[in-house]
Amino acid sequence: MITVENVTRRYGSFVAVDNVSFECAPGTVTGFLGPNGAGKSTTLRILAGLTPASSGRATISGRDYHALPNPGRVVGIMLDAAAQHPGRTGSETLRLAATALGVPRQRIGEMLDVVGLADAGGRRVGQYSLGMRQRLGIATALLGDPQVLILDEPANGMDPEGIRWMRELLRDFAARGGTVLLSSHLLSEVQATVDHLVVIGRGRIVAQGKLADLLHGG
Ligand code: ADP
Ligand code: ADP
Repeated sequence: MITVENVTRRYGSFVAVDNVSFECAPGTVTGFLGPNGAGKSTTLRILAGLTPASSGRATISGRDYHALPNPGRVVGIMLDAAAQHPGRTGSETLRLAATALGVPRQRIGEMLDVVGLADAGGRRVGQYSLGMRQRLGIATALLGDPQVLILDEPANGMDPEGIRWMRELLRDFAARGGTVLLSSHLLSEVQATVDHLVVIGRGRIVAQGKLADLLHGG
């Protein structure tokens, strides 16, 4: 369960996130939708414990990220797929994460398989397309076998085949009881993947609920 309760984040006098509240339940895929600059990344960074909220609280399984007993085993996070170290290979990237998490090395090959990068593990990330970096970021997020996934703009740079693959992966993850929160600035990219939507604009929630209700009324 992800719970965001009255979270506000100010930068000086600028309010990037303005009294935002929503919940993501196990078994669901929630899309966090809004244009660039709306406050999505800031909210996700607060959930990930990378930046503090000015007020309010964001918790995962009832705790602040840093208070989780084994954060990397509870929640998998990908905040910026493009920022992965370009000089490392895909396998090296996963090996470092596996060591940090205390995950057996055999899981590296398994994860490369799961994300469709089995043949690319030996290549440097600097040679990957953005879609491949998204796949590698998702593999890293899944490495600790978490119950919660938080992905910032994972569909960015993915081709239609990648988006279909991600839809299957995330739906499967949720069908097993996992909780998924992913952001996007394009509804068309994530519409088939998400069942709940939280729509944000200029730091404020403008709509939220089941996708079907929001799109078709009722
Ligand atoms: P999104 O992810 O929806 O594109 P962000 O959360 O990245 O939006 O940004 C929301 C707003 O907050 C933007 O106007 C952005 O420029 C601003 N912002 C984000 N981080 C900082 C920061 N460290 N200092 C000042 N302004 C920031
Ligand atoms: P994204 O595009 O992934 O939403 P941004 O490009 O908005 O992220 O932000 C990247 C980094 O720059 C973040 O650490 C964010 O806090 C910082 N940042 C974003 N906007 C500003 C800003 N207006 N002033 C200072 N730092 C910012």
